[in-house]
Order: sequence, then C-alpha cells, then structure tokens
Amino acid sequence: MTEKIQFDVVIVGGGMAGSTAAAITAREGLNVAVIERGQKPGAKNYFGGALYTHALQEIYPDFFDRRPPLERPVTETGFWFLSEDGVVKMTVQGGVVDNDPIDAYVALRAEFDPWWAEQAAAEGAFYIPKTLVTDFIYEDGKVIGVKTDRPDGDVYAPVVIICEGVNNLLTQKLGLIDHDVLINKTALAVKQLISVPAKDINARLGLPDSKHGMAISVVGDVSMGMPGLGFLYTTSSALSLGVGVTLEALQETQIKPYELLQRYLEHPFIAPLIEDGQLMEYGAHLIPEGGWTTMPKLYTDGAMVAGDAASMVNAIHWEGTNMAITAGKQAALTAIEAHRKNDFSAKTLAGYQDRLSELFVFKDLKQYRKMSAFLENHPEFMSVYPNFLNDAMGMFFTGFGKPKRKLYKDIFRKLTERRPLFKAVGDMVAFGRAVTGI
Ligand SMILES: Cc1cc2nc3c(=O)[nH]c(=O)nc-3n(C[C@H](O)[C@H](O)[C@H](O)COP(=O)(O)OP(=O)(O)OC[C@H]3O[C@@H](n4cnc5c(N)ncnc54)[C@H](O)[C@@H]3O)c2cc1C
Repeated sequence: MTEKIQFDVVIVGGGMAGSTAAAITAREGLNVAVIERGQKPGAKNYFGGALYTHALQEIYPDFFDRRPPLERPVTETGFWFLSEDGVVKMTVQGGVVDNDPIDAYVALRAEFDPWWAEQAAAEGAFYIPKTLVTDFIYEDGKVIGVKTDRPDGDVYAPVVIICEGVNNLLTQKLGLIDHDVLINKTALAVKQLISVPAKDINARLGLPDSKHGMAISVVGDVSMGMPGLGFLYTTSSALSLGVGVTLEALQETQIKPYELLQRYLEHPFIAPLIEDGQLMEYGAHLIPEGGWTTMPKLYTDGAMVAGDAASMVNAIHWEGTNMAITAGKQAALTAIEAHRKNDFSAKTLAGYQDRLSELFVFKDLKQYRKMSAFLENHPEFMSVYPNFLNDAMGMFFTGFGKPKRKLYKDIFRKLTERRPLFKAVGDMVAFGRAVTGI
C-alpha cells in the first residue's frame, strides 16, 4: 500500500495568491504543499502589468533587498483616450507618484512568479509542479485533501487554500459558486510584448532614462466600442501592449481578439512606439471582472478560496495581484488559526471573510459592484466620450482667432450630435454611481 501523503496545508496554484499563502503558513512552521499545474510557477501566468510594493512589502518588509526581478518603476501613469486618428493624454508624473518606494513596478510574470515561489520555498513550502489538482477528498462532507492527475496522487491536509486563478473549476466543483465564468463578466485580454531598445523607449515616450517607466490605461478606439480597456507598460527594453474586452462582446461582434490587438498596434499613435520592434511574447488570459457580483462563497469546511478564483479583481484600477496577495495572506492567517484551534470547520474558516471585510479587497469590490454592469450598459464611455474628448480638446487648443462663444457652442454641438444632453447627464450620474457604489 502506498503511504498517505499528509501536509498541514495544501495550496492549489503557485501564482500570486498561492505563493503568498504558502510563505505565510510555512513561516509559521506548518508543513505546506503548493500544487501547481505548470512546469514551474509562472509558466501559465500572464498579465499586463504592474505589481504593487505596498502588498509585496507586507509579505517581505525587506522585499527590495531580496533583489526581486522587477522591470521599470511606474513614474508616469494615467489615461490615453484614443480616437481613430488622435489621442488625448492625461497622465501624471512626480508628486505622489514619486513616492519612496514607488508603489507600482512593471514585471514579467514568467520571471516574477518563480522568484515569488522561491521566497515561499525558502520559508519551507514544498512545491509540487507539473501536477493538476482534479478534485477534493472528503470525509464526513469536509474537505480533507485533494486528488491530482498523478498516479497515487492524493494529497491530504485538513485545510486546502484554492488559488487556482480565473478558471475556477475547483471552486465550482466544491459548490462555492453555482455557475461557470460568465461571458459578460469576464474579459479576454490579448497582449504582445515587443522588444524595443531602451533608448528608443525613452525617446519615444519622453522618459528621461531607463529608471523611469509608464503604465497607461488606454480607453476608446482601442476596444472598438466594446466594454474594455487597452494598456501600455514599459519593461526595461520592451513595451507590453494589450487590450481586454468581455467575452460576450467578442461573441456578439465576432471580432477576433488578435484582429483587435493588431488594430490597436497599428493605431497612428501606437505604431511609431513599436517601430522596428521584435515580438517577444504573444499571449492571452482571462480577467474576472464581475468583482463583488461574481464572488463565490469564500470558505467551507476544510477549504478557502483566494485571488482571481474568488473574482478579486478591480479591473478599472488594474488591481488584481495586490488583492491576490492580500487575500492569500488572510487565508493563510486563518489556516494558522485553524491549526492552533485544531478546528477546520467552516465556522473557524469564516474568519477569513471577516479579515477581508476589514481590508480594501472587500471594501473596494463592494464599492465597485455596479461597475461591470455599468460598462456593459454604457458603451458610450468606450466610443462617444473618448471621441468627443479628442474633438473638444483639439478644437479648444486650435480655436485661435474665433469668437470663443461660438467655439464653445461648436464644441458643445460635437457632444450633442453624438449623445443627447439629457442622456449625457444620465451617463455621468450612472458613472458617478458606479464609482462610488451609491
Ligand atoms: C492582461 C492582464 C493584465 C493585468 N494587469 C494587472 C496589473 O497591471 N496589475 C495587477 O495587479 N493585476 C493585473 N492583472 C490581474 C492579475 O494578473 C491577477 O489578478 C493575479 O495574477 C491573480 O493571482 P492568482 O494567484 O489569483 O491567480 P494566478 O496568478 O492566475 O495563479 C493561478 C495559478 O493556479 C494554477 N492552477 C490553476 N488551476 C490549477 C489546478 N487545478 N491545479 C494546479 N494548479 C492550478 C495556475 O497554473 C496558476 O499558476 C492582469 C491580468 C491580465 C490577464
């Protein structure tokens, strides 16, 4: 008979949430297994994107001394509003963006995730890569371990932390949520990482040197009127450019994601940035955008769920990794408490939700709970308003030698030709409600 493989904690998924939960539980002396389906942590992971120092330093106060594989700090950030042939740039640099340390750093997950996992392994966590968790093992209705795709691959633990990412098949299997990912609440993001010499990146984006970087949310023509956003991030010597729109919009419009991305890359204000660049990576990944509205139940007897699997993403602010790290930590603290009490019941694991409700993860997701419905119902914010903004700014700054009363009337007409005034007012009220949650 094969020996029973027993740990104190099993973590499914070696991404941001999983490796965080692993570090915290292992640090406490618990015997922790992280089961990751990829060849190694990060092999399956893909994002824009920026990581946030506030979350990383909460796990490792000496984070920067550990020489993490980060790319450029984000010293300039904001929105670019694209029309078909123009752009309004609203970005900020200096001031509060110039914090010490700077909060946002661009990273490549293929490099960062293995490193993040190494930190957890150094705390004592045991990684089992190339292994898919397929189901749970139950005793008296309680989760007491997981089944994997390995022969004799059952792994036991009185508490399992599910950090499986956006494809939350195990979370569904456990009955914590009663539906598959919803196509109107899930975006498909496609991205290219294009190598461009650092000096060209700096010259083309007006960055003083390679110690400066950009994170830009791109709105308007990039999503072809569909609910979604584009992005631009600078790594040391590459540009990360992508666009994410809901699966539902792609299905309805039959626009192919790679055509959408190609169109973005050919935009007159994007194409020159990547001229003579070399394609390094091309990939796609889902983003759970339902937030609060698609959050599963977070715990049951013997298990908790954290990160994308629990819909913990604020897509408007590109916050996902920090939510995953924070939730991974809170799930870990709850697992530690459960071990102290030797009680792994839902009653004890409910402490995970109580902890999260005190933090920005719950507060923000609750506040933004109307956002994905708002974007779905207000495509004007992806088309009418970015186009109007381009016209309005262009006219304002070229209205030389014209009576300004007439100029303002002309600008106003540019809006009302596209959207009746009362509807525009309604849109702004709806936007305000979606942001404030009131
Ligand atoms: C294009 C794009 C841009 C983004 N930009 C940003 C950004 O700028 N800033 C930001 O903070 N967030 C961003 N995000 C969101 C962020 O990437 C996620 O919120 C974050 O990675 C979630 O972490 P996680 O640990 O929950 O999931 P993941 O990091 O996805 O990790 C899940 C892990 O579980 C493994 N796994 C899954 N199922 C199983 C199984 N059954 N058995 C074993 N292993 C399994 C996977 O292989 C994976 O390693 C972006 C996302 C995308 C797609």
